[in-house]
Amino acid sequence: MLYTSTRDRSVSVTSAEAIACGISKDGGLFVPMELPHIDGEFINSLLGVDYITRAEKVLSLFLTDYSEDEIDYCVSGAYADGKFSSKKVAPLKTLAEGVAVLELWRGPTCAFKDMALQLLPYLLTVAAKKTVADKTIVILVATSGDTGKAALEGFKDVDKTKIMVFYPNDGVSPMQKLQMTTQEGGNVGVCAINGNFDDAQSGVKAIFTNPEVIKKLDENGMMFSSANSINWGRLVPQIVYYISAYCDMIENGTINNGDEINVVVPTGNFGNILAAYYAKKMGVPIRKLICASNSNNVLTDFFSDGKYDRNRKFYTTESPSMDILISSNLERLLFHLSGENDELVRKWMSSLSGEGRYVVTEEVKNQIFELFAAGCCNDDETNDTIEKCFNNSGYLIDTHTAVAVKVYNDYVQKTGDKTPTVIASTANPYKFSASVLKAISGGEPCDADEFQQVELLIEKSGAQCPEQLSSLKEKMPRFTSCCNKEDMARVVYDMLGI
Ligand SMILES: *Cc1c(COP(=O)(O)O)cnc(C)c1O
Repeated sequence: MLYTSTRDRSVSVTSAEAIACGISKDGGLFVPMELPHIDGEFINSLLGVDYITRAEKVLSLFLTDYSEDEIDYCVSGAYADGKFSSKKVAPLKTLAEGVAVLELWRGPTCAFKDMALQLLPYLLTVAAKKTVADKTIVILVATSGDTGKAALEGFKDVDKTKIMVFYPNDGVSPMQKLQMTTQEGGNVGVCAINGNFDDAQSGVKAIFTNPEVIKKLDENGMMFSSANSINWGRLVPQIVYYISAYCDMIENGTINNGDEINVVVPTGNFGNILAAYYAKKMGVPIRKLICASNSNNVLTDFFSDGKYDRNRKFYTTESPSMDILISSNLERLLFHLSGENDELVRKWMSSLSGEGRYVVTEEVKNQIFELFAAGCCNDDETNDTIEKCFNNSGYLIDTHTAVAVKVYNDYVQKTGDKTPTVIASTANPYKFSASVLKAISGGEPCDADEFQQVELLIEKSGAQCPEQLSSLKEKMPRFTSCCNKEDMARVVYDMLGI
């Protein structure tokens, strides 16, 4: 199987090249030229087997230039026993009749990014061997929270890789900051910067594209790569869990093989829900893809009228990992729905970077209406939903998952659609303890410190706090430095020892 670019259809690369490069030279994203098809028989072959086997079977459809042994090495390493707190890796939890939550936060950092970022380092190092003669891969990340920690944990002590993460000093939650500053591993570096997330992001981009820096790395047998959510190596692992969830729905008797399900996904960069779209296109009987946004509801509007417009107020919400106004992965959907029209995609993307908006064609719009439903949820509704869900079912959800649950409830009310449904749950509630505690305490904020709030939440909810979060209290921060944006390149050199 070969991959092309959303902005230039003449591009043709293998999956290893797509994963090693991250983004196409023309600025487009890599997409498979044709999707593998799976049928009921394929689904049958995934019943009664573990997650690793399911992942191997699905990934081998996409990564045709990886050998069976290589895929086995990657997948077995990523989802090995003990790395995830459930033997099923991404287990389903029944919330109500026909409604299940897909727990994607059982990994080492307690957010769904682990599902992809545990596997990416393996895919990337194998790809580097095939394509760039075994250079050491240097990963630079600018993070507003979850991605940085998940990438650190994924690349920690992976041979032939080094990773450096920058985060805005005052722009991440106390728990997220501690998760990063206490990171273990011999090939990792973490540094705060004086500035906001945009400063960190533009600083990283500037280093990434600086010819002098690239040359210096090259002289030392190193090269940059990206762990961004636009890397195909982050998207393809996410397709697996939707197929796996469908199998689990059969196994637990909710559906028969061939029955339709709906899928609800809390969305920011449009990566997670795009993976569900690919699963549907491959043949998993998914009826509606339900796209859930917080107050930054640029996608809700887009799915109602086909107009994407980022010129609007930016909200800082209680579901911060979805505070995004440019959903980068939407570009892939537009490419597919426009009949792989790279010229149209180029036009829309240049209009997005220029005027901050674009309008899709009638044809694309009609397909969008057919495939997707969309809704949004503000902070008050998020709190309300956490409280109601806890009171009704005793199940504690985080703020991002709550956005999805609320949008799903609205959807059912509006349409009466009772199709069995999978709701993607993207973070463990203890990652956002303050918000969740407030929600189940009648909206009263609490000014105790982070770990006292964790204690209170344990007392009040009875839900277990993952060890990797509660043990942060005892850990000494390793990375305490903070730099100015102008000094980021020097910090990278120091970390690399060059
Ligand atoms: C990253 C993230 C999201 C958004 O995922 P996208 O793939 O960007 O849509 C949602 N919830 C949590 C907890 C996240 O970390």
